[in-house]
Amino acid sequence: MTTSSANHWLKDVAAHAGMDLDLPRRPDIASVRNAWPGVARACRLPDDKFTQRVAGYFRMGVADVSTYDPQSVKLIPEAIARRYGLLALSSTDASIVVATSDPANRAAHRDIVAHSSRQPVFMMASPTVLGHALERAYAPARAPKNALQTLVAQVAESDFQVVTNQGKGLFTSFELEDPGVVKLGEIVLQQGLRYRATEIHVEPGATNGRVRYRIDGVLHHVVDLPPAAHNRLVARLKHLAFEQPGANPEDGFTVRISSDVYKQAHLLTTPTPDGELVWIRLVSPNVVPSLDDLGFDGPEDRKIRQVLAKKEGLVLVTGPARSGTTSFIYAALHSLESQAVISLEGRPELVVPGVTQIRYDPSTGLSFAETLQQLLDRAPDVIHAGEIRDLATARIVLRTAVTGRKILATVHTSDAVSGVRRLVDMGLASGRLAESLHAVISLRLVRKLCESCARAFDPERDAKSREAKLASVLGVPPVMRAVGCRACAGTGYLHQIPIPEILVVSPAMRMVLARSPNDIELLRAAQADGMRTFAEVGLERVANGLTTVEEIERVLGVVPTRDETADSVGPVLVVDDEEQDRLIVSSVLRQMGFQVREATDVATAKSMLESGDEAFSMVMMDLYMPGSDGTELLRSIRQSLSTQSLPVIVLTSSANPRDELELLEAGADDFLLKPVVAERLEARVRAVLRRSGVRIAAGG
Ligand SMILES: [Zn+2]
Repeated sequence: MTTSSANHWLKDVAAHAGMDLDLPRRPDIASVRNAWPGVARACRLPDDKFTQRVAGYFRMGVADVSTYDPQSVKLIPEAIARRYGLLALSSTDASIVVATSDPANRAAHRDIVAHSSRQPVFMMASPTVLGHALERAYAPARAPKNALQTLVAQVAESDFQVVTNQGKGLFTSFELEDPGVVKLGEIVLQQGLRYRATEIHVEPGATNGRVRYRIDGVLHHVVDLPPAAHNRLVARLKHLAFEQPGANPEDGFTVRISSDVYKQAHLLTTPTPDGELVWIRLVSPNVVPSLDDLGFDGPEDRKIRQVLAKKEGLVLVTGPARSGTTSFIYAALHSLESQAVISLEGRPELVVPGVTQIRYDPSTGLSFAETLQQLLDRAPDVIHAGEIRDLATARIVLRTAVTGRKILATVHTSDAVSGVRRLVDMGLASGRLAESLHAVISLRLVRKLCESCARAFDPERDAKSREAKLASVLGVPPVMRAVGCRACAGTGYLHQIPIPEILVVSPAMRMVLARSPNDIELLRAAQADGMRTFAEVGLERVANGLTTVEEIERVLGVVPTRDETADSVGPVLVVDDEEQDRLIVSSVLRQMGFQVREATDVATAKSMLESGDEAFSMVMMDLYMPGSDGTELLRSIRQSLSTQSLPVIVLTSSANPRDELELLEAGADDFLLKPVVAERLEARVRAVLRRSGVRIAAGG
């Protein structure tokens, strides 16, 4: 193995190809992974050819990651494998064959020996290839993939052999009607329907494409596709959507398993450097949900019905993508069908009986706001104004709301209070808003536990589970656990239920609003008025046994938690000359449960690290300290064998993205802009620990 070179080995590889590249001298995990694609491109070599070039440089073979022995995979813990990008392919008593992109990484070598007690024999694979292979090798056996995987393998072997050596691009109609291609398209669509997928992603990759299904809002990796299969599948799906006799891209195409189970498939494609990405949305045409179907519950259910029953005012619906706002709007309009209802939409997804749905058509030359104004001349009782994107639309919406009409509109914000904030930020006077706004309904969707397989939480058996930890942090008793069965495709969850946060503008709230409150004042006033937050409603669903704390945390992502790894790892070293910054950083880390050591200059930090008295788990350091150079500390951490793989987060005042790149290349795992914001710091620390493999895999 060649590690004596003064250059980054990628630089040497590039030099062999006649390229002189500017790369940091010392390779580390992140720099190889990040620099590889760029170096390959600079050398004008496709990924596989560049891999051969690198393998030649290290005088080792190119790995075939498609065949690995699952027993050998287990010899390297997932965290270590992901940290360095390693996949064990086979092993004997004394040695283990490992695919890597960075054979020069001594820390990886050391950790393989430590965990497998075997000597590694390295084979070369590119970071992209390894990334996909790792997903496969360590993927939980919970996704609905096995059936499809077997079929794709059969199809790829039997039917694609003759055509695999053709490139991307054009296919003859003969090829598109090839039984193998047709079958593959059918399988992917039908399995998607069977597993209740709402989206099918056919994603290209440098070496392999993949198919993923979105089931109950969560993407599941289903199967990898060899490039030949990927390209033909894409061509076949596009053919179905756009080129068949009678095909209408606007309507999509119909997918069915039986005469009564069918969906409309809408297809979008985007070119990427690796090929074409296809995104299919599956919708049930003409199945308009009722409010009852959506599963609202408790006081929020009553509030929603009261809000919709009122004849006038603005009802603002907010939520990020896929949070259930579209279904809610359709259900709400449907419930109002006895009145004159007009809906102005970008592209109507469902036909709602009794509702006049107008598709906004920019080719008329009229703006969205102008079209909306025209529709108001038809004197509807209820109007759905779609998403409020500009001040002109917002003004019309407010005007309409005070003229005895009910108007529904959406904005993409995360909660009820920020929905109000968005309208104010657009330029609406809060006094006007106070007069017109009736309610803000903000939504999230969480997955509902599968009734066939969910089981009661067992205090003994589940003591170490993530569910138990999250529940104890929040001070709520865990109730149920997700398991997984055939009915729920192994996910443990079946269907979604809404978590609403509803701000109703009461007379008291109107007075607060008119005073241009800040977000905190607004939130307090709403809570005083009886608004329950997402977290409160969500935890009630947990208490009712409908979902889990894990699921609430996945969706809300804001549940404050003590980091579960903090207790089991060494202290964090905080290096900063500014007392104020040191104080903030240390106190956040302590709140997360970490022990903290502090240093005010580079020399002290260095000696603390080098003494070996304590096994630090991470370093958080200021880059610019008077009289000492932060980059020098960073360099010395990366050069010492004992601290080489220690995660480092750099605190910087520079907002220049070039500096950030340089920091990462110099060996920082991440950086954080000053002034330090507690939540962001917490998120970064968690992410860095997770990436570097310090976090033990979440309990299950
Ligand atoms: Zn189940």
